[in-house]
Amino acid sequence: MGLKHIHKTLYISVIVLLLISCSSNQASNTVSPDNLTIDLPKIDCANKIEAYILASDTVSDEGIDLITKWVCVAERLFFDKPSTNWEIVNPIYIAVLDRNNLESAMQLEKIWCDHIKKYHNSGKGNNGYDNGKCNSKQRGCNFGLCLFTQKEGRVTGSSISSNSKRDGFNLFISNSHDLPEHSDSYGYVTLHEMFHIYQYSNLTKDRSYKDEKKIAGKLGTGSDPNVDVPWWVEGNAVFFSYYYYAKEMQDREYFIDKMESSLWAEWQGVLIDKYLKSEKTINEFTWNGEEKKIGYEIGAWFTAYLIDKVGEEKIHKFYSNLEAEGDFEIAFKKYFGIDYKYAVNDFDLFLRKPKTEIMSLLNRIYPQPK
Ligand SMILES: [Zn+2]
Repeated sequence: MGLKHIHKTLYISVIVLLLISCSSNQASNTVSPDNLTIDLPKIDCANKIEAYILASDTVSDEGIDLITKWVCVAERLFFDKPSTNWEIVNPIYIAVLDRNNLESAMQLEKIWCDHIKKYHNSGKGNNGYDNGKCNSKQRGCNFGLCLFTQKEGRVTGSSISSNSKRDGFNLFISNSHDLPEHSDSYGYVTLHEMFHIYQYSNLTKDRSYKDEKKIAGKLGTGSDPNVDVPWWVEGNAVFFSYYYYAKEMQDREYFIDKMESSLWAEWQGVLIDKYLKSEKTINEFTWNGEEKKIGYEIGAWFTAYLIDKVGEEKIHKFYSNLEAEGDFEIAFKKYFGIDYKYAVNDFDLFLRKPKTEIMSLLNRIYPQPK
């Protein structure tokens, strides 16, 4: 149970979660690599995750409570295992933005930049300040208008905007959702972003940005080896966010509806129609324009398709052994028993089947409760 207290400093307030907890896991400040005590409120329901909240003053307590809840669910689902590389997972900073308040995002960015200048500015492995946009030497960024805001004057959408091994932290930018009608968005978006932290936390070696993307399958698995493709990294995150949100809420219909919408809902056109007309396989869609939506949503169906064939556990085995295998293609073949290029072709044939047959896959991977 949390007792909330709002502390205002000039225009900015940081939400401080004071705790009345009956467990032994009281929130406590931890010590950064430079032995400085981090002065941000820490999520109290987590066990080994060290996640800190940095919130715009106009974000509601309810929104912060939902993020907190779902970070702890994500810990149980994705991180609570012996193979977790905690030194890469922690710390996680969650910048909680208000999508309707550009000014508050700009102000929060100043607090964030001061924070990492102080705590993550000590060279190799903890160099987030120098690596990132807070450092005024980085091109294309005016201080206070670049990281939590976009050039067109909008508040930045949710993402993981960091490389933990170089920066010394994970930065989870969490954009707000209207409550109560979009409380599910806090759930599945938090699961989605935490899944990205999980994906990359399996890669412990320091590599170039390009090599990191290659081993993750984000680069080098499309038709153009130099263009990023979302089918695998994002498809996994989208699928697991829908799947586990529904499982946690014991709302199977939610999952079925989301997955059905991915293919057949009207998003400036029906995605499955666009996909089938494109004559491309799922790994060829990029982040470009409307291709992105296809990569994410139909990518989620690719993940569902794969789970139907090999079981969910194989996906986690794939991630925990990816680095040891040293290569995306090799690991894919080893854990899923098929070359990814054949798998995307088989998936293409599957998507050409009648809707009832496609939808019946969901009954197998998330059966009706008896
Ligand atoms: Zn994502």
